[in-house]
Amino acid sequence: MSGQYDWGQNNLVKTNREKTLHQLPAVNDILQSSQISELLSSYPREMVLEIVRSVLDRIRSELKNNEDSDSAGKSFSREQLKGLVAQETAETIKRIAGSTLKKVINGTGVILHTNLGRSLLSPAACQAVFLAASSYINLEFDLDAGRRGSRHAAVQNILSRLTGAESFLAVNNNAAAVLLALSTLARGREVIVSRGQLVEIGGSFRIPEIMKQSGCILVEVGTTNKTYVEDYRAAITERTALILHVHTSNYNIIGFTRQASISELVRLGREFNLPVMSDLGSGVLADLGFFNLPVEPTVQQVLDAGPSLVTFSGDKMLGGPQAGIIAGKKEIIEEMNKNPLARALRIDKLTLAALEATLRSYLNPGQALEEIPTLRMITGSLEGVRLRAEELACSLKEAVQKEAEITIRRSVSRVGGGAMPAAELPSFAVAVKPSKLSMERFSRLLRYHEPAVLGRVQEDLFLLDLRTVQKEEEKMILDAVSEVLSKEEKKKLFQG
Ligand SMILES: *Cc1c(COP(=O)(O)O)cnc(C)c1O
Repeated sequence: MSGQYDWGQNNLVKTNREKTLHQLPAVNDILQSSQISELLSSYPREMVLEIVRSVLDRIRSELKNNEDSDSAGKSFSREQLKGLVAQETAETIKRIAGSTLKKVINGTGVILHTNLGRSLLSPAACQAVFLAASSYINLEFDLDAGRRGSRHAAVQNILSRLTGAESFLAVNNNAAAVLLALSTLARGREVIVSRGQLVEIGGSFRIPEIMKQSGCILVEVGTTNKTYVEDYRAAITERTALILHVHTSNYNIIGFTRQASISELVRLGREFNLPVMSDLGSGVLADLGFFNLPVEPTVQQVLDAGPSLVTFSGDKMLGGPQAGIIAGKKEIIEEMNKNPLARALRIDKLTLAALEATLRSYLNPGQALEEIPTLRMITGSLEGVRLRAEELACSLKEAVQKEAEITIRRSVSRVGGGAMPAAELPSFAVAVKPSKLSMERFSRLLRYHEPAVLGRVQEDLFLLDLRTVQKEEEKMILDAVSEVLSKEEKKKLFQG
């Protein structure tokens, strides 16, 4: 196909390009067609005009380049061409006016999929966002006192109850939290970090680079696999401003390893009157000890070890919106609040509303595991996933028995998002093996479907891991798979 118009789509009818080019309607002519006048009542004239011109240009150049054209071939009438341009213009405008962000059903089994937006919000958090978006709220207004209040009051109250820390600041994301903390505490001075913790967390967040960006001097100590508290001690000078501990959340060093604990660093810091900061990455607030997961310290446990501040993400294990939370000593948080960067990185009202509602769920831990989708998916029982996979497989078998083979397979889900790298969550997947479509084409058609359906391709199977599929999406998967397979079937019959 040479482009939008498949002039040669039927080789019996070759296009007579000379004649067709001659019949191309004028712009004004097209603007008078009924389809276009309808568009003109909704969209700016300049925009419609520009699109009509570009459609005409494209047809003209496709005609000129089309090798299937032939002077003996079919020619299109002016009326036909007018209709074609009008239709193409309408479709283009629909595409422009339509949304680019589309719903995706996540059958990949990766719970915190950064490319798919990490955490889903709880119903309470969604409601809070709606409220904050559609009405005025007391964002920075103290209703008790009747005057200006703090934007951070909302999370301050709830977080101090949940974690016991003195003070908090919420910013755009954890990368911003680390940047703000480093720039406030250590600008122009030295920060000591273990070589085993100089991590990269997705593309642009690398500890050495964020260090440079915040104007600090990185002092590396120890080795990749072993760093002792004595290595930190030996690096302390009068230029030292901070000891930084980074949770290596997206990889594991196993075997002959040793990292100084936060408690050890806090003891060392006290000796030299130096603050210790812990970049926790995925802040776990709920005690997940009962579940068969790798042990990850909770924010409360880390704070109990006594660092001056802890930073963590809102949309990783916490299960809330994209945000960065800084918890710590009151005077340090106050200092950070005065940093001009704090204004540039400040959290917006929609995020704040979602964050507060998410945090409130944690007041009732049992409820948090149910309501917060990220926690629900991580802690959901294998048996529950198996039943759902069987049910979906059963309905799929009924719907597409001729077009595909449907089975269920054991699968392994992952937390993802750079959290709990070693955690393998046992799961079940529905496996689809299309009988007539290539795997490449099948998965592409599912991606084009609305809502788009993503899965994992393993050998000749398309796997949909049910752990990351929401209950109400099962029917949508059934519809999508049936539609994709049956459409292809119809097309084949038609062509055959
Ligand atoms: C994920 C992560 C970050 C970055 O957090 P964002 O909220 O994605 O900006 C920083 N540090 C650590 C240790 C992380 O795991």
